[in-house]
Amino acid sequence: MRIAVYSTKAYDRRSIEETNERFGHELTFLEARLQANTAALAAGHDAVCAFVNDILDREVVDLLAEEGVELLALRSAGFNHVDIDRAAERGITVVRVPAYSPYAVAEHTVGLMIAVNRRFHRAYNRVRDGNFALEGLLGFDLRSKRVGIIGTGKIGQITARILRGFGCSLRAYDPYPNDEVRDYGVRYVDLDTLFAECDVITLHCPLTPDTHHIIDAEALSKMKDGVMIVNTSRGPLVDTVAVIEGLKTGKIGNLALDVYEEEGDLFFEDLSDKVITDDVFSRLLTFPNVLITAHQAFFTQEALSNIAETPLSNVSAYARGDRSGNELTPKNIRPNRGDDDGEDE
Ligand code: NAD
Repeated sequence: MRIAVYSTKAYDRRSIEETNERFGHELTFLEARLQANTAALAAGHDAVCAFVNDILDREVVDLLAEEGVELLALRSAGFNHVDIDRAAERGITVVRVPAYSPYAVAEHTVGLMIAVNRRFHRAYNRVRDGNFALEGLLGFDLRSKRVGIIGTGKIGQITARILRGFGCSLRAYDPYPNDEVRDYGVRYVDLDTLFAECDVITLHCPLTPDTHHIIDAEALSKMKDGVMIVNTSRGPLVDTVAVIEGLKTGKIGNLALDVYEEEGDLFFEDLSDKVITDDVFSRLLTFPNVLITAHQAFFTQEALSNIAETPLSNVSAYARGDRSGNELTPKNIRPNRGDDDGEDE
């Protein structure tokens, strides 16, 4: 099939081209993000391959349908950026990569926890600068600390397993508790209890209308003073203005983010020569107890290889008239575990 591959960096191109030698699709690599004013670049293609910050709202889905696109092959697990209902109405099939490496994201999450707690980001610069003082670098043992995991799907579970090895006491909130997770010594509690009891709170749920700003001023008011918050899931889970306030008052002792509400205008680009006009983001960067990576949690060799393999294989399945099992439909994206319509577990 002819596939327009949006938002490609050199590393994407290398792995997708190499993998495509086995699939033989006709690929057009586009550096542009997919949005209304770049949708026309998909003209003449059967499929569009899109990444996390591409915009696939109603308008873009309509534009793609008008260009004759039949298939949206996401290079991501998350699909909050896609109007699945509209795609179905326009007869466009949507497929995703359900898990390209949950280990990559879980390991990065724990890495962020340790790095922000022990101030690796400050220590690195100090030592390079000949400053070997420890003042300002004091952390705490993770052992025995209570860690709350919001969302115990693939990534949340692996995070729990890693943290169990550190001797943390684990709590979780998920509307669909999982018995296997209980076997790791995780105790499911309601959200307010998790907020009230935990020293560290880490987010591993999808972005949905229910989880938008799940960390807001009200949630923060229920948390312990000095709480650590880690978000490697999706930016809008966290109300950034509220966490800035929480950092200023000391309610939040540590904040580690791999995602940010307005990251679409920033992340994945080299803006080091440009003026950052997002004042909220710039304020976040001023805190010594904030560590931000730019949507990097997925970025391992293993994940990149799966990110190339699964979309191409999804496209091949579609071309053969088969189901890959990775289809997203209005039915299977609703959180109703009763159905069995290709939703991966
Ligand atoms: P998953 O579908 O396996 O698990 C998500 C879990 O969240 C499920 O158990 C679900 O029941 C739970 N959930 C749903 N609604 C909830 C709610 N209101 N409160 C609490 N839990 C809720 O997904 P996953 O593979 O573990 O990925 C989790 C998220 O990580 C994705 O949605 C994606 O946004 C993010 N992600 C980030 C990166 C990155 O590079 N930073 C990479 C991959 C995925």
